Amino acid sequence: MTTPQTSVSYPADYTELLARLATVHDLHAASAVLGWDQMTYLPAGSGGPRGRHLATLTRLAHEHFTDDRIGVLLDNLSSFEASLASDSDEASLLRVARQDHGRAVRVPGSFMATFAEHQSASYQAWTVARPANDWKAVTPILERTVELSREYAGFFPRTNHLADVFVDEAEPGLDVEAVRALFSSLRARLVPMVRQIVAQARPDDTFLTRVYPVDTQWQFGEMIARKLGYDFERGRQDRAPHPFTTSFSRNDVRITTRLSETDLRFGLFATMHEAGHGMYEQGVAPGLDGTLLGSGASSGVHESQSRLWENVVGRSRGFWKWGYPRLQTTFPGQLGDVSADQFYRAINRVEPSLIRVEADEMTYNLHIMMRFDFELALLDGSLRVADLPDAWNARFKDDLGITPSSNQDGCMQDVHWFASPIAGQFQGYTIGNVLSAQCFDRACEVHPSIPSEIESGEFGSLLAWLHTNLHALGRKYDVNDTIVRATGRPLTIEPYLAYLKAKFGDLYDLS
Ligand code: ZN
Repeated sequence: MTTPQTSVSYPADYTELLARLATVHDLHAASAVLGWDQMTYLPAGSGGPRGRHLATLTRLAHEHFTDDRIGVLLDNLSSFEASLASDSDEASLLRVARQDHGRAVRVPGSFMATFAEHQSASYQAWTVARPANDWKAVTPILERTVELSREYAGFFPRTNHLADVFVDEAEPGLDVEAVRALFSSLRARLVPMVRQIVAQARPDDTFLTRVYPVDTQWQFGEMIARKLGYDFERGRQDRAPHPFTTSFSRNDVRITTRLSETDLRFGLFATMHEAGHGMYEQGVAPGLDGTLLGSGASSGVHESQSRLWENVVGRSRGFWKWGYPRLQTTFPGQLGDVSADQFYRAINRVEPSLIRVEADEMTYNLHIMMRFDFELALLDGSLRVADLPDAWNARFKDDLGITPSSNQDGCMQDVHWFASPIAGQFQGYTIGNVLSAQCFDRACEVHPSIPSEIESGEFGSLLAWLHTNLHALGRKYDVNDTIVRATGRPLTIEPYLAYLKAKFGDLYDLS
């Protein structure tokens, strides 16, 4: 869209708009670099000034984006927009710019800066309070987050639920009702399966918690990420306490992982997960880079890509047919006495557990659904922050039959509420799980050889299909539109349930 051949025919207003949006993009990118640094290398004692740096950049980006001139340009460009095919890059950019600008002008820059600074301070406080299990230290901080989140929602027209604005920001085109409907139909089918499985004997997985030197894990993880198709020439991997991926451009997409010397699963699956996010960002069409359209479509669509590589591929029998001999050679002392079948069963062991990021595929969505409900309740005031630990523990007991022994492993475990608004943070994970199976199914319909390619460590056809049909679209379309264009139909739980049933029906007795 910014290539010289085509830009000559653009109206002057469009060229000016592109330039102004590029400035906003660059400020966000600079802010993302500081955010990445904060989560990876920033010394623990230097959080204060970093919060100010981020607040300044956030304020500047917001000021530039909400400049009246952008509104004028968008108005002037209405007839140009009407002359374009609606699926062209230019029409999509104008459509998304109008939505984003319309949203941004509602929120004062001073509020955005206050919120950014609060989020930064909140994250710093959480990194200290969580290891110390110090719920009291973060209670007032979280109360303030709830207050600020409500204030933010208040800048928008009233909808059915205060959280609608956050859900729509994370998943353009979706609202609380749509997510509730999806979750309740999924939950109705999932809970009976979980109950059946957890009543059965569990496979041995103790060999996964032998001592695995982290340097060797790191090398193995990098080999896997490279093999899947994550491009280290346009990215890098670092360690972070809470793995994440960030993109400053499709040519600079960074992933992070965390490693435990006594649990092989953490690093291995976090690396595959983040590589999935990374490959999505690296696959955005080059013409969209540096624009409002140059990133993934939504949190949920993003998560579908990380979960596809982590679970649908990375926890499959086929993948380990290729991967296990390599893993075994890398850790002969730890896995020499473990068969491929034992390993496969162990990495797919289903067991109610306290920590979301360590949860198995069957119980994972229950962790998400409870967080979604808590977000709604905190935001609408039906749950007070002070009552969150009790509510959390009670819901855990109901849904998973276990109770956290500490808030550290309970309501303080996730970074989200300590680095973001209180709502719209979690639904994407389950949307992503559902969509991961739908994408994989569609890719296999088109390329029936994908499963056998995976068995021989070949991932090119799958990645190419994803790049062409999903990644390249960037943020051109809303969630529903993106899903239909990529997979040929709207989001549906059937492929995901069929996937779970086939996989876990083979491992457990499922009637
Ligand atoms: Zn993720």
